[in-house]
Amino acid sequence: MSCVFCQIVEGTNPGDILFHDSRVMVFRDIHPQAPVHLLIIPKKHISSVTRLTGEDENLLPHMMTTAIEIAKREGLWGKGFRLVINSGQQGGQLVPHLHLHLLGGKQLSGQLG
Ligand code: 5GP
Ligand code: ZN
Repeated sequence: MSCVFCQIVEGTNPGDILFHDSRVMVFRDIHPQAPVHLLIIPKKHISSVTRLTGEDENLLPHMMTTAIEIAKREGLWGKGFRLVINSGQQGGQLVPHLHLHLLGGKQLSGQLG
């Protein structure tokens, strides 16, 4: 059985999807930690940022530029926002499908670790 984010890509797990193209998908986090809390994921299952290979060239920059474009759409450009990737156990990664968090819409905590 595929992972929870693959299920959103496949349409078998409902997601509040804001954007997708051939390579990435953007949807709202189910437990938002800020007024805007979105997840930018590759459609292809990659378990972690450490599992990117040469085949995935430009995927991470594409995820970043997609996030920045969506931040604009969400009205965050003038206010600021945060982009975060958690990786592995000590990095706090809970879902083993690469994802970039986009957080904003309030003054975010200065604590990152
Ligand atoms: P991580 O800790 O792995 O970096 O973050 C995983 C994020 O995925 C969490 O913020 C969590 O709320 C979110 N999440 C987990 N399961 C689902 C789901 O089924 N749907 C959506 N939209 N978000 C999820
Ligand atoms: Zn997956």
